Order: sequence, then C-alpha cells, then structure tokens
Amino acid sequence: MSKSEQLFKQAQKVIPGGVNSPVRAFKGVGGDPLFFTRGEGAWLYDADDRRYVDYVGSWGPMIAGHCHPDVVRAVQETAANGLGFGAPTEIETRMAELLCNMVPSLELVRMVSSGTEATMSAIRLARGFTNRDKIVKFEGCYHGHSDSLLVKAGSGALTLGVPTSPGVPADLAQHTMTLSYNDAEQVSKAFSEIGDQVAAIIVEPVAGNMNCIPPAEGFLQTLREVCDRHGSVLIFDEVMTGFRVAPGGAQQRYGVTPDLTTLGKVVGGGLPVGAFGGRRDIMEYIAPTGPVYQAGTLSGNPVAMAAGLATLALVQQPGFHEGLDQRAKQLVGGLKTRASSAGIALTSNQVGGMFGLFFTEADQVCDFAGVNDCNLERFKAFYHAMLEHGVYLAPSAFEAGFVSSAHDDEAIQTTLDAAEQAFASLS
Ligand code: PMP
Repeated sequence: MSKSEQLFKQAQKVIPGGVNSPVRAFKGVGGDPLFFTRGEGAWLYDADDRRYVDYVGSWGPMIAGHCHPDVVRAVQETAANGLGFGAPTEIETRMAELLCNMVPSLELVRMVSSGTEATMSAIRLARGFTNRDKIVKFEGCYHGHSDSLLVKAGSGALTLGVPTSPGVPADLAQHTMTLSYNDAEQVSKAFSEIGDQVAAIIVEPVAGNMNCIPPAEGFLQTLREVCDRHGSVLIFDEVMTGFRVAPGGAQQRYGVTPDLTTLGKVVGGGLPVGAFGGRRDIMEYIAPTGPVYQAGTLSGNPVAMAAGLATLALVQQPGFHEGLDQRAKQLVGGLKTRASSAGIALTSNQVGGMFGLFFTEADQVCDFAGVNDCNLERFKAFYHAMLEHGVYLAPSAFEAGFVSSAHDDEAIQTTLDAAEQAFASLS
C-alpha cells in the first residue's frame, strides 16, 4: 500500500470522507487522493516522494509557485512578532491601499478569511443597501457555500430557485434566481419582469467552476446596464480571476466596473484570506459605519496579510501577466497539437493564467450545457494517465487549470510528454 493510501485510510476514520473540502476526495475522477508533503515552484511532492507538475496551485493562490522565497520570508518575519492581535495593524491598511490601487472598482475594502465569507458578506450588504431580497446568479458559477448561493434553477429559468444541498431552507433559496451564463437576452428579459426586486447580480466574470468559460462579447456589459437601470448592485466574484487574468482582475481585462468585488485565493498568497470591496457609499453601509453587520476574529490577520502582500508584489512585477499568458498558451497549444496527432477531439479555453480542456467535438464551449456535453469518461482516463506520468491536474472536469510564474520550460515539456502518452492510451 502506498503512503498516500495509508494516510487516506487513517484520515477517513476521523475526517468526513478523509478530506476537509469535498473536491479533494477525487469523487470526480475516481480513485483515492494523493497526500502531499511539500511544494517547490511548479512542482509538488507526494507522501511517497513522487514529483508532479502542479496545475491546481492550491486551487489558485499559488500564482508565483510554491514556497516562493519572498513569500516564505514575509510570513516568517511577520510571525516572529505575533500571530495575531484582533486589533488594528498597519499591514492591514497597506493591504487595503494596494487593493484599492490595483482593482478598479475598489474605493473601500474589508478583509475576511475565505472566498465564501467574502461573497456571503457582499450579498448581505447588497440586500441591506437596496432593501431588496432577490439575487441573480448563473448556472455553473460557484460562489462558496453560503445558503443563498447554494441554489440552482427551478424547472423554468424564471422560476424560484431550489436548494442544491439539504440544509438550505427553501424559503431562502426562493430569493435566488439562477440564469444561464452568457445568455444576455435571458438576463434582460428577467430584469424587465422583476428587475426592481433584485438586490444584486453575482457573477464570475470568467467562470472557473464549470471548467473555464470566458464571458461572451457584451455579456458583462449587459449585466452592468440592467443593474444601472434597476438600481441593483453588480457583484463580480473575482475570488478566482482576481490578480490572475490581469493585475486588476477581469474587471480590468474586460473594462466593466462592478459595484462590489469579492476576492480570495491570490490575495492571501496561500493563507486563509478573502476580501470584499467596492463603491464607497455601499461599503460605508457595513458596521461600524453602517447598519449591515459583518465581523471576523481573524479578519486581516497580519501573517496572512504578509503572505498576500508578498505575493501581490510579485504579481505586479513588469511582464508577470504576459509571462503567465505565454506559458498557458504554450501549454494549451502543445496539448492540442498532441491530441490532434493522436486523433483525440480536444477543445480549449484560456484567459491569462487560467485554462480549460474539453473532450468534445464542439469547436467551442461557452456555457454550462456545453461543459456537460463533454466526454467525462475520457477526462477521467486522461486524468489518471497524466497523474501516472507525473502531472497533477484538478481532479474534476468542472474546474479550471492554473499556470504559475514558476511553470518553466521543464515543467511544460514534462506535461506535454506526459500528455503524448496519455492521449495515445486513450485512442
Ligand atoms: N468564489 C469563487 C469564484 C470560487 O472559485 C471560490 C472557491 N473556489 C469561492 C468563491 C469560495 O472561496 P473559498 O473556498 O475560499 O470559501
């Protein structure tokens, strides 16, 4: 038995399913998860000391690779002065100033400890600010696991939402309307009927939780227009896209400014951090300046701020995003060439350091239905063949892949060599 198998057995005795977050359990691809012991740049080492090129990057934060010396040093130096005080520290202001400088929509920003907390707080704030209950989200987008956001569409697009999980009250889910991603016409129609009751639209401006789906031309603009017309708050959930698809996130890349933005992942450099911010008049509506309650014992934790600031300093270096984009293009282009030589139909999406691979004959995949039409069995076989050859992809066909600045020629070449063998085993 491998060390990972042994550790997984032990874990299952005391942790539900042996994991602290469900997607880690390999349910999407079958088999048992690997246990990791260390990371270095683009590489991960498992408990059996096997080495893998990593395209998960801790689900996004590791944009500069694992254990970047600047980040490790910042954490060590800050930790030496105390792990947290639950009182204001200067480093929180430095983080807030940087975020307001980098992300176009931010005038005020509040730190929290996860992406889930950021989106949950932004939704409460939007509801409090507008004095409305309804929110609009999109099928295939994930915004964390708070009650209002674990909701899928009812039987018709304009029907009441239904919970995607037991434990979410139907009474709450009915306030969430779920529409089709990239369907601007449907959004306009929905708003012409109930727009004046909608507190907020929340959207992943590039969807990364149904594989990787970029926004269709004009889609984000339509969201902006209907929110303006009906006094609803536009929330971009940039937990994944923030600092990744451009220094200022998707809002900078696509030139559409939301009212509120949620951040996570990269902003904490690998430690538990999230943030939400935006228009001053809306943000002043939260406690202590306003009536909407929101708080956190660990919010703005100095060690976490240090990891985030050190990571954001790397992200701001000239050419950082061009480098990510070029690496991701090299990877995706190389994979497509090898798939085509092996006679395997493979379609891809790529936005900066985010990419998606789809086993489908379709020329493009641009919504949740398209993702669902892909060959899942083929993905599973590909996944395990890649793992066998030392490449660690997200263990689900519904997750985007991430390239870091540490993915050098060796990492990419190792991946392409692995893929050549993996594709050959599929055909
Ligand atoms: N929003 C988006 C777009 C996400 O991708 C995620 C996590 N993958 C979340 C929110 C929730 O973040 P967390 O897991 O930190 O709670």
